[in-house]
Amino acid sequence: MRTIGAHVSASGGVENAPANAAAIGARAFALFTKNQRRWQAKPLTTESIDRFKSACEAHGYGPDQILPHDSYLINLGHPDPDALLRSRDAFIDEMQRCMQLGLNRLNFHPGSHLRQVSETHCLRTIAESINLALDQTQGVMAVIENTAGQGSNLGHRFEQLAEIIEGVEDKSRVGVCLDTCHTFAAGYDLRTEAACEATFDEFDRIVGLNYLQGMHLNGSKSPLGSRVDRHHTLDQGELGTAVFAFLMNHPSTVGIPMVLETIDSSRWAEEIQWLYSLERK
Ligand SMILES: [Zn+2]
Ligand SMILES: [Zn+2]
Repeated sequence: MRTIGAHVSASGGVENAPANAAAIGARAFALFTKNQRRWQAKPLTTESIDRFKSACEAHGYGPDQILPHDSYLINLGHPDPDALLRSRDAFIDEMQRCMQLGLNRLNFHPGSHLRQVSETHCLRTIAESINLALDQTQGVMAVIENTAGQGSNLGHRFEQLAEIIEGVEDKSRVGVCLDTCHTFAAGYDLRTEAACEATFDEFDRIVGLNYLQGMHLNGSKSPLGSRVDRHHTLDQGELGTAVFAFLMNHPSTVGIPMVLETIDSSRWAEEIQWLYSLERK
């Protein structure tokens, strides 16, 4: 049984997210544990933490069904030392918030070289950032999201994900989240079952399917290889729906959080039900 959900609102406090997920029939969910567009955040209160944990328990969400996402401001490969330090501190804070909430994964976008340093240099910096964060935390896995490759964002090629993982010392605490829209926009075809198989085989060969720790389920407004990150609903856009039937039956997606970031939240409940209907085993 796959666990499907959506990136739900944590407005008013993280403790509100589980009920928002349950209301749309989700068996998994993603959330921000702080405002994703700000550097600073108040620490989580004991009350908020306790309420979050009891709401998860009440609605049946365990850590393997929850995929927190870090702030959009963080760039773990930043070429400027001061900006890098700020990002690393913020990332460690996000990891610690996950620990407090009893969560075991933190999903993040790897980073950007901003055209100031080489790709290799930036990938090494990202790996070192992950090492520093893992050293200062326990029990939370750093889950690298593949990107569409927009601008100077790295992590759009499977080789880049593999290179980051190569530089991480504790391989048991690093994973990958594949986003269907990003994968497609990065140039990996997913429009037919055969194309999905070829893309997943390539991922397995270069990165390893054992590293797959989450999925973002999105349609794509932008075409194959466009390197433009524009999500769509599941049934509209350039991607088509074959990929979702593939994912709902591929052995690698059992036991990991799979979350929608589609553009029309009023359709999430329906999209979740439709995904479950595709599952044969
Ligand atoms: Zn995503
Ligand atoms: Zn995206």
